[in-house]
Amino acid sequence: MVASAPLPGSTHGSPSEVVIENLVIVGSGPAGYTAAIYAARANLAPLLITGFQRGGIPGGQLMTTTHVENYPGFPDGILGPELMDRCKAQALRWGTKLVEADAESLDLSSRPYRLVTSEGETIWTHSLILATGASANRLGIKEEERFWSRGISACAICDGATPQFRKEQLAVVGGGDSACEEAVYLTKYGSQVHLIVRSQSLRASAAMADRVLANPAIIVHWNREVLAGLGEDWLSAIRLRDRTTGATDDLPVRGLFYAIGHTPNTELLQGQLELDEKGYLVTRPGRPETSLEGVFAAGDVADAEWRQGITAAGSGCQAALAAERWLSHHQLARPVERQNIEPEPAGATEPTATSDAGNFDAAALWQKGGYALRKLYHDSEKPLLVVYTSPSCGPCHVLKPQLKRVLDELSGRALGVEIDIEADPEIAQQAGVTGTPTVQLFFNKQLQQQWQGVKQRREFKAAIEALTAASA
Ligand SMILES: Cc1cc2nc3c(=O)[nH]c(=O)nc-3n(C[C@H](O)[C@H](O)[C@H](O)COP(=O)(O)OP(=O)(O)OC[C@H]3O[C@@H](n4cnc5c(N)ncnc54)[C@H](O)[C@@H]3O)c2cc1C
Repeated sequence: MVASAPLPGSTHGSPSEVVIENLVIVGSGPAGYTAAIYAARANLAPLLITGFQRGGIPGGQLMTTTHVENYPGFPDGILGPELMDRCKAQALRWGTKLVEADAESLDLSSRPYRLVTSEGETIWTHSLILATGASANRLGIKEEERFWSRGISACAICDGATPQFRKEQLAVVGGGDSACEEAVYLTKYGSQVHLIVRSQSLRASAAMADRVLANPAIIVHWNREVLAGLGEDWLSAIRLRDRTTGATDDLPVRGLFYAIGHTPNTELLQGQLELDEKGYLVTRPGRPETSLEGVFAAGDVADAEWRQGITAAGSGCQAALAAERWLSHHQLARPVERQNIEPEPAGATEPTATSDAGNFDAAALWQKGGYALRKLYHDSEKPLLVVYTSPSCGPCHVLKPQLKRVLDELSGRALGVEIDIEADPEIAQQAGVTGTPTVQLFFNKQLQQQWQGVKQRREFKAAIEALTAASA
């Protein structure tokens, strides 16, 4: 298969030649994966940089939501992470190449374009689709760092189910669709949810606003802004200011969830491509072409207005078709030759069964539930990775396969257990888990290290290898 052309005299791989990709796509949200599906089906063997931490997790914003009810083709709705898994599987099935990393820098000053990943890899490409989406905004209050994951969170869907929030007073700040959705969602867990709105009205769709206003478990605080977070080890209250009178008061809450909009992920592009005053990529009206030849934009990164899964996917399709035409026009495309016209079906992955006395396996690399945790904690002499997840947490969904790969690569030198904090809340409480995903590494019944959020595989691997080397 010829996917790309060698460029003499450059430095990537061997000193004498580099590979130039037909098309690199940056971002793995609905825009990036749709672009990949179209480009892969056009035999361009696109290379997709999934993103990892810098501008959101692989799979993009829909990994942080539960039910997506408005994406066509799913009459009963679909979970955001499941939708993104399906997009990924479809892109892979047709021959997309994935790089699980962030794009750290881009050089668009000459062609072929050059990109360096967070893993230090340099990639050259004739054309580029930028689908880096947008990131959740933070309030920027002084106590944010101190209470981050200790009461303050930017993802109600990910963290709402943690034991510390159960039957507690919770607050959501924001007045749009996300804020309303999160407030409604949190009523499943909190005793009362306070929605803090800067103005006198909600910006959410009418249907969503009606749901919030009709919900007796939600109290809306109009014309308020959050000035500070209060508490010792954990957030216990927030200080609010009435924007009409200037009066302040403290609202006792154990959780504060941000839902205050997004900033486009265009940091890498500053000074290289035309951006608007809010930082969104500027394209030709109604088209995916940016201010540079061969560089196309798709999804929320170039869309301050519609910002939906389906609009992102639609623009990903446009960008891929435009890139294909541009490559053909400039006679740059090097299509792959397929052995099989119809690729193998993508297949489905089976969920892990919860272990009990009947199916527990002391040698299994990955098990689930409190029974397996107790057995391995007490009886196993190997390092034990415990990941605490909740069913609707997209980042957990991203992290689990990474951890399984680490354990595979270590060929049985360490074992893993998943604890669903909804199924085992007492275990999560005992372990002091304050959000999902949390990973704890145990060895000789001692907690050695703890991580929160999605981290690179190499961090877990290095920690385990250090333990096994020290004990050898
Ligand atoms: C809580 C919530 C609920 C939502 N619910 C719905 C819904 O029900 N229906 C609906 O249609 N829409 C919904 N949306 C909106 C929808 O998620 C977005 O419009 C859509 O995900 C945008 O897709 P995208 O591909 O443009 O970007 P994103 O989904 O934001 O994906 C961006 C991708 O770029 C990657 N990236 C960023 N920076 C870099 C970098 N430097 N290097 C490499 N990769 C990078 C990220 O890792 C990510 O993979 C919701 C959004 C939120 C936040």
